[in-house]
Amino acid sequence: MPILDEVDGFEFEEVMCSVFRNLGYEDVEKSRKTADKGRDITMIDSASRGKDEAVVVECKHTDTVGRPVVQKLDSAVSTYSHDGPKRGMIATTGRLTNPAIEYAEQVGIEIFDGQRIREVADEVGMDLYNGRVEIITDSVLHPPRPQHVLDEFYAVIDRIKYLSRDEVPDPLTTISLHPVIAADTKTNRVFETGAGVIHTIDETDNIVVDGMSSELDGLTDDLDTIVSAYDLDTDVKVIDEAEYTQVADRIDRRRFGGTDQEFRRWIKQQERDRLTETVSYTGDNNQTYSKECAPSLDDVTIRLLRPFYVCRIDASMKLNKRTYALDWFATADDSWVVDNTIETCRFAEEGRGSIDSVPAAATALKEAIGDPTYAFCPLCETIVAERYMRHDGVTGEPVCVECAVTDRFVGAKKHFRSDDTRQQYEDEVAAKGTVEKLSVNKTGVITVLAVLLVFALLFL
Ligand SMILES: [Zn+2]
Repeated sequence: MPILDEVDGFEFEEVMCSVFRNLGYEDVEKSRKTADKGRDITMIDSASRGKDEAVVVECKHTDTVGRPVVQKLDSAVSTYSHDGPKRGMIATTGRLTNPAIEYAEQVGIEIFDGQRIREVADEVGMDLYNGRVEIITDSVLHPPRPQHVLDEFYAVIDRIKYLSRDEVPDPLTTISLHPVIAADTKTNRVFETGAGVIHTIDETDNIVVDGMSSELDGLTDDLDTIVSAYDLDTDVKVIDEAEYTQVADRIDRRRFGGTDQEFRRWIKQQERDRLTETVSYTGDNNQTYSKECAPSLDDVTIRLLRPFYVCRIDASMKLNKRTYALDWFATADDSWVVDNTIETCRFAEEGRGSIDSVPAAATALKEAIGDPTYAFCPLCETIVAERYMRHDGVTGEPVCVECAVTDRFVGAKKHFRSDDTRQQYEDEVAAKGTVEKLSVNKTGVITVLAVLLVFALLFL
C-alpha cells in the first residue's frame, strides 16, 4: 500500500512538520511558498551533538527520489544561514535511488524515507493513509492527589443539613481527562503602499482552546479561568493514570477533537482575525485612504503548541432511587463546579414550589440574600430546600413537609414525623391547664393580645 496516498505534495510538507514536532524537533517551520526550492522545512535539532543544529528538509511526495534532488538540497544547506552546525534531510513517501543514497551518504544528508515514516507513524499517532496526526499527550494540569479526588463531592455533602458523609453510599466516580491546547504565537508583518509603511504588526500572544471541540471553538469560561490560574511551564505534569484507579471507577481519556494540523491552522486563523485592522493613511497626494491590513496565515508563527488535559470529575450516588451528581473540573488546589444536582430541591424540581407558600416567601427572601441551603429528609430520603423542612413537635427531629403529619393545636399548625408523636403531643396538650395550653401557640397568643391592646387604646 502506498503511504499518505490521500495527501498532496503541499499537504505532505505539513504532515512532515507534525511528524518532526512530535519527534522532538524544535522551531519546525514550513518555508514560504516563495522561498528557494530545496528548502521545504527548516527546524532545530537540539538533541544533536549538544548544540542546536539546523536541519534543512526537502520533501518529495514521490515513489523515487533521484540524485539531482539530493545535490540541490546539499547546496541549499550550504547557503542556509545559521549560526552553528547544520545538515540536510530528504523526506519522502517513497525511496531514494541507489546513486541518490550514495550521494547522500557522501555529503552527510539524512534520509527519512517511506520505510522510516512507517516506523514512526505509531509513535507520533499518524494515520499512514491520510496523514492525520492525532494529538497525543500525557500531560495534565496540576492534577489533584488521588486521596483528594472526592474532596469537592464531600464538601457538597457536608453542606446538606441532616446528611452526613457516612450515610451516603460511595459515589460512582469517573475521572475524565479533558483536552486543552495552549499555543504561543508570534506574528510579524509590515504593510507597505506607495506612501511607505502604513502599518506594522509585531505581536506575540498566548491562545488557549478547548481540545474537545471538533468545531474548534474558543474556551468555555470555566476552562479559561482554570488555565489562566496556572503557569503552564511549571504546573503541567505527566499523568500517572494508575494511581487514580483506586479512587475512580472509570478513567476516561478524551480524544482531541482535531488533528495537530487542524488545531494549528485554526489557531493561526484566529490570530490573523484578531490582528486584522483597517488603517487610515495619507497618500502622496494628501488624500486620506483606508486599507484593511490582514496578515496572512504564513505571517503567524506558532512557536509552541502545548496539548494537555484538565481533570474533570463526575461523582454520582443514588439515594432512594434518585440520582444525585456533581461534575467539576479539579486541580490540586481548586475546583470549578460545572453541574450540581445534589444541591437541588425535589419539590422545586417537581414544580411544587408553592407547597407551603407563607413560610416559603420568608425563606425565599433569606435564600436570595445568602446561598440557598438544602436539607435531607430521613423519611423519604430526598434532598429538599431547607424551607421545606420542619421539626417534630415532640422529638425535634427533621422531617420534610410532605412526610410530616400535621395537626392544629390552639390554632397553631404542628408537624410530626409520625402519628405516634402527634398522638403523644395531643396527650401532653390535653394534660395541660388552660393558660399553659396557650403557650402551644405563642405567636398566636401574642398576636391576639396585641390586637386587644390596640383595640383597648383606641376605644376605651
Ligand atoms: Zn420527606
